[in-house]
Amino acid sequence: MYSSKYLELLIEELEKLPTIGAKSAQRLALHLLRAPREDALRLAEAIRALRERVGFCRVCGNFTEQDPCRLCSDPARESGVLCVVEQPGDVIALERTGSFKGRYHVLGGALSPLDGTTPEKLRIRELLERIRAGAEPGAAEVREVILATNPNVAGEATALYVHRLLTPLGIKVTRIARGVPMGSDLEYSDQVTLARALEGRREVE
Ligand SMILES: [Zn+2]
Repeated sequence: MYSSKYLELLIEELEKLPTIGAKSAQRLALHLLRAPREDALRLAEAIRALRERVGFCRVCGNFTEQDPCRLCSDPARESGVLCVVEQPGDVIALERTGSFKGRYHVLGGALSPLDGTTPEKLRIRELLERIRAGAEPGAAEVREVILATNPNVAGEATALYVHRLLTPLGIKVTRIARGVPMGSDLEYSDQVTLARALEGRREVE
């Protein structure tokens, strides 16, 4: 179908990306052939650097090339408030609102036993360890945990589960308000909605 094996190969790879269908993959591949060589190679280099240099932050679980990450090592951020999210994309969304100045904890997903996402697969143990370490004398104590998992079935189940584990530790646990429409993803919520949801958080009973 294609005059070049390499063109076909690239189209195949592009098609594996989310939201890219067969037509888009073909359009992108042809674009990369016509674009200045340096531009195409810069894209290739950006992908290589991303995969070779970016790993996970030991503290919060977010993507980073320095460990601890920029957010965890920023002295201006309040270490007493921990915002628990599902994915690194949620941190980006919350940071875009500019209204949260605490720290994050990325779980790496949400509880969904049917898909095999059990508590052990999420960074829940790390969260508890982090809170316990904060309770040590001289350490920065965690006073509030904000559960900012997605407002869908898996996200709610995760919030409930984490809340139950945190209750015996005597920490204030809050859940972001319902400003974010039910069933939607935090990551794709607009900034104003997300900032409001964060502001309107309520203590979990
Ligand atoms: Zn971090």
